[in-house]
Amino acid sequence: MKVQDNLTRIEAEIQKACKVARRNRSEVKIIAVTKYVSTERALEALEAGIRHLGENRPEGLLEKQEVLLDKPVWHFIGSLQTRKVKTIIDKVDYIHSLDRLTLAEEIQKRSSKKMKCFVQVNTSGEESKHGLSPDEVINFIDELAGFDRIQVVGLMTMAPNTTDEAIVRNCFHTLREIRDQIEKRNLDYAPCHELSMGMSNDFAIAIEEGATMVRIGTALVGE
Ligand SMILES: *Cc1c(COP(=O)(O)O)cnc(C)c1O
Repeated sequence: MKVQDNLTRIEAEIQKACKVARRNRSEVKIIAVTKYVSTERALEALEAGIRHLGENRPEGLLEKQEVLLDKPVWHFIGSLQTRKVKTIIDKVDYIHSLDRLTLAEEIQKRSSKKMKCFVQVNTSGEESKHGLSPDEVINFIDELAGFDRIQVVGLMTMAPNTTDEAIVRNCFHTLREIRDQIEKRNLDYAPCHELSMGMSNDFAIAIEEGATMVRIGTALVGE
């Protein structure tokens, strides 16, 4: 399948979900997750009009960045080892996986700019998933107050891989409620307007629940 054909189908689903939720289409950005695919395929996504690319490994990111000169906006979406921060920090625009203080300290130490970060939340409670538990998030945000190289632009979560829509929806809803609490506080260092949630199988539900960035791999560029 051409990326353009996949995108046409996904775009229709996004518009439908926006309509259901009475949201404006411009509130939702698509991140093409290129972690499974070649640089050529990532280029095809850019040619189809995608501006945001996501990778979950430093190696994959650097490899593609060398070749893709038409600069996309880069999102680091994978769990990030503290010692790998220095290899990616000046090469990405967003980090979606801030989930611990030691990682924040390393970002603070290594970044030459205010790094846009999402705090990752484990809304499903699955052991296999990274992220803070929902009741830890507010405290963690407070702890980030002194970090002038970190800006918390939003929250990120992954729903479980299940066909039970209620479970998935509940995860996204939980994330939104925590986001709303933080947003209301009007913190300079944590405006927290964004919700990074929704993947190939559940992006429509995520948009209905308020996603502002959906991270789509398989359904858009393939696996
Ligand atoms: C792989 C990945 C995605 C994309 O998953 P698909 O199901 O292929 O769309 C999204 N977010 C994260 C964090 C991922 O690791």
